[in-house]
Amino acid sequence: MPRPSGRRLPAVADAATKVARRRPSILHGSARVLLLPLSRPRTHVLLAGLVNLCSENGQDGSGADPDPGPHCGTSSRKSRGGVPMKAAVVRDFAEPLRIEEIPKPEPGPGEVVVKIEASGLCHTDIHASRGDWPVKPKLPLTPGHEGVGIVESVGRDVTEVQEGERVAIPWLHYACGACEFCASGWETLCEKQLNTGYFVDGGYAEYTKGFAKFVGRVPAGIDPFEAAPLTCAGVTTYKAVKVSGARSSDLVAVFGVGGLGHMAVQYARISGASVVAVDLTEEKLDLARSLGAEYAVNAREQDPVEEIKKLGGADAVIATAVSPRAFEQGYKSLKRGGTLVFVALPADNNVQLPIFETVLNGTKIVGSIVGTRLDLQEVFELHAAGKTRVMYEKRHIDTVNEDFQAVEEGKVGARLVYDFGVGEPSRKPEGVLTGEAEIPSAQPVGEAKEHPGPIPG
Ligand code: NAD
Ligand code: ZN
Ligand code: ZN
Repeated sequence: MPRPSGRRLPAVADAATKVARRRPSILHGSARVLLLPLSRPRTHVLLAGLVNLCSENGQDGSGADPDPGPHCGTSSRKSRGGVPMKAAVVRDFAEPLRIEEIPKPEPGPGEVVVKIEASGLCHTDIHASRGDWPVKPKLPLTPGHEGVGIVESVGRDVTEVQEGERVAIPWLHYACGACEFCASGWETLCEKQLNTGYFVDGGYAEYTKGFAKFVGRVPAGIDPFEAAPLTCAGVTTYKAVKVSGARSSDLVAVFGVGGLGHMAVQYARISGASVVAVDLTEEKLDLARSLGAEYAVNAREQDPVEEIKKLGGADAVIATAVSPRAFEQGYKSLKRGGTLVFVALPADNNVQLPIFETVLNGTKIVGSIVGTRLDLQEVFELHAAGKTRVMYEKRHIDTVNEDFQAVEEGKVGARLVYDFGVGEPSRKPEGVLTGEAEIPSAQPVGEAKEHPGPIPG
């Protein structure tokens, strides 16, 4: 699969570049370099900005801020004697999730209660449920940060959304709005942030709370089952492609073609770059090709470093595979001056990267965490304009534990989305193309025996 020399793709609608011109500081001005710690951090500080430090703030996300702010913890369980609702609950990191009846949440000031229609399963929910990361989520926990539904009730002082509107409740549940990060367009780095489905109960439930200022408004015409994966997988990879600086003459390597990766392939193509996709099964690679990847490498059968080097090396690597080894391969696949974007968060929090080559090759390594509210709005706009496709398979929340296993074994097409069975049919405005929920790999991709799991890191 040699890359034709000197070949340049025609520029397609370059949303990232357009946004760069509009907001240069977000794209090129202040991308932060984050080298993940090689050893487990002794404090939570290294992950500040990834997850809120509720435990250090006495379970109160507002800390000492005069802004009363939101509260972490089991908000939904604080309502006493309320109407019961069904939710998937983690009570112990070593045990499966339980399907329970817990009190339906009530909106506090600035909050909305959303009747969930569709709720995506992000691999982060698996990490959260297992306590995989250095900073642990609250317990008990209702995971889920791709919840989409209809605003059922609003609390005091809510002006941003109204009852009856369709909204998405993303990972960035709340940010302070006042710190240097919030003020400079980097609210995803806010140290006072709260995270849905981690420190605040999330979307694996019939009802979920969100902050009116932080819910995403889903445009008419976007199906809730497509909106759900866009709420994390979409916005995260849209942002990752932005921070990679991908341009139309570039080769972007996407490692991992799961929920995140299948969107990353598309955003890289929208930036105009050529894409090489890397995964472990032919089904995943076929999916990547169907979404615009020009090259595909099966890392079980071929060395992705060699194959990508044959193409001239990657200008950018988007690392979404849940494997430190894939990060290391991504690093070695880069051209001089290339950018490796850390996106996946494997439980094994270590990569081995050489200092000497990094310096001599001018390699850039950037951590990228979800995206801002504006990024999410742009993701929805691109989808409403028919420029992206979301591949999903519906599931019922009762099968959550089997689903986690299937995702870990790579036996699902791209994204699983829980159907809470309450949504109105989505209305598609005339003349607007929406992404088709075609599911080329809707069937499990091979049997378990054919997929012995990720290559050990
Ligand atoms: P997923 O399970 O849907 O996809 C992972 C893909 O990686 C699968 O297709 C799998 O086959 C592939 N893979 C595994 N090992 C591989 C290897 N060695 N080489 C190539 N491909 C390999 O997971 P997802 O929901 O897309 O999430 C991916 C990761 O991103 C998770 O760790 C998740 O926690 C993290 N995440 C990070 C952010 C962020 O803001 N940075 C946001 C969401 C998710
Ligand atoms: Zn996610
Ligand atoms: Zn802030």
